[in-house]
Amino acid sequence: MKAAVFLERDGVLNQVRVAGRNQVAPMCLEEFRIREDVRESLEHLKAAGYLILVTTNQPNVARGLLPRRELDRMHDMLRRALPVDDILLCAHEESDRCNCRKPSAGLFTEAAFRWHLDMERSFVISDKWQDSSAAFVAGCNSVLMKSPWNGSGHHDFLVNGFGEACQKVLQFNHPVHHVRVPLPQLALA
Ligand SMILES: [Zn+2]
Repeated sequence: MKAAVFLERDGVLNQVRVAGRNQVAPMCLEEFRIREDVRESLEHLKAAGYLILVTTNQPNVARGLLPRRELDRMHDMLRRALPVDDILLCAHEESDRCNCRKPSAGLFTEAAFRWHLDMERSFVISDKWQDSSAAFVAGCNSVLMKSPWNGSGHHDFLVNGFGEACQKVLQFNHPVHHVRVPLPQLALA
């Protein structure tokens, strides 16, 4: 079984505007600015055998403010710019009560099924509590980058930035499943 590193999109892989206490996700391709400084760390994760899976809540799709075609163009750009294996999307808003909008774990459990992931060896990297919370429910490890959106819920590791987050993952670097050594058989009396 493979392991994955799940990455929050907004604020981690692309820049966001901050308005008041909130991050504002880009609304069109021209506003979509990919953080080029994450590429090298991502390539280290890929080289170590991890799948790179992006997760993102985009409620503006459900609200009719963000055309799906525009979002697809952003994600095409993201796939070209960074070594990303898949992008998992919740396009609902909170009132839709779906099971994929983070902090619900639906995107993660769906990925676990589709990619046959070993969640115990998988990680979530984000700057937001919603991802750490979903990671906990989905049974994978969470690395939270310090930000105003950390909340006070469960997380496994707290780090200063993206490079440090990836180093934390690589410290646990066993992304390819090895056959477990069987326990010695109990001697039959
Ligand atoms: Zn959803």
